[in-house]
Amino acid sequence: MYQPASDRYQNMQYRRSGHSGIVLPAVSLGLWHNFGSVDVFENGRKIIQHAFDCGITHFDLANNYGPIPGSAEENFGRILKADFTGRLRDELIISTKAGYTMWEGPYNDWGSRKYLLVSLDQSLKRMGLDYVDIFYHHRPDPHTPLIETMRALAHAVHSGKALYAAISNYPAELAREAIRILNDLGTPCLIHQPKYSMFERWVEPDLLNVLHETGVGCIPFSPLAQGMLTNKYLHGIPADSRMAKPHGFLHASDLSEDKMAKIRDLNEIAKRRNQSLAQMALAWLLKDPRVTSVLIGASSVEQLDDNLACLNNLHFQTEELSHIKSILDRP
Ligand code: NDP
Repeated sequence: MYQPASDRYQNMQYRRSGHSGIVLPAVSLGLWHNFGSVDVFENGRKIIQHAFDCGITHFDLANNYGPIPGSAEENFGRILKADFTGRLRDELIISTKAGYTMWEGPYNDWGSRKYLLVSLDQSLKRMGLDYVDIFYHHRPDPHTPLIETMRALAHAVHSGKALYAAISNYPAELAREAIRILNDLGTPCLIHQPKYSMFERWVEPDLLNVLHETGVGCIPFSPLAQGMLTNKYLHGIPADSRMAKPHGFLHASDLSEDKMAKIRDLNEIAKRRNQSLAQMALAWLLKDPRVTSVLIGASSVEQLDDNLACLNNLHFQTEELSHIKSILDRP
């Protein structure tokens, strides 16, 4: 029987999401990989328990996480039922999303009201929940009017099936418009979830400022570039790594010689800071107060502990930052 650690709130830092009432742990855990039907259930369960013991209150899902799609929500639902009994649900911020292909037929994807609201009902059923805390539109839909998608998010909130609306993968100006509409509908956007890491910096010129100006939080996903910004690939591709697995979106071709050289050089800076590369990559994001939380993945409790220790040093010297920038700016 799982008993949460009594000191679980002592070491985590909590940061406010934009101008909202919600604080999130500086490190949040995503269930995109490692929690599906192809994974070892008890390993995922241990990771979730340990995360909660360390003060991670926020768990991020989506309808399609698995593989197979839906299985991460099902497994998370089993863990909730077994381990998070009593009032522990009240201590959790659980998010899900809709925006990618889920079932057969023409209403199975993108951003229509039909797809979003049916998908949310399916997610709640899979997780055995009455409500999620955050419901995201997962990616912009070029064909559905933005107002329809935002009205669907607002309806999810008004119906009590979600407490907050949110968006993911929206470029800056579309995000600004979505945020304006959600404000007009009385259901402000809580947070934006973009891909952001040392290797993926598209948010820096515009999006971060839009979020800051509009009072919306930011939770970067894949902050470790799916594991490339760790010591994992320094000496080849381990058999148990995401890159070596047949499913997923990380391939050996992502690890060019130029990228390997950057990883090695960044690792040297991390060593001088007495951090692992993973810790430095996360600290580098969290140094920016516009970033609410970093949304990591982990395939083991040890990785989770390594990543959490980033919180011991979020400070960078000016020279370190310019050295890092010179490495990242290389072609
Ligand atoms: P990361 O960039 O944090 O990559 C996580 C992976 O890196 C782990 O599964 C593990 O891979 C490896 N890793 C993590 N920590 C360490 C460590 N300390 N040492 C060595 N290797 C490590 O994030 P993800 O790509 O997993 O994404 C995180 C979350 O973001 C997802 O779960 C999901 O919730 C969200 N997301 C959202 C998307 C969206 O469109 N909104 C898209 C993608 C993700 P390994 O298996 O090789 O051990």
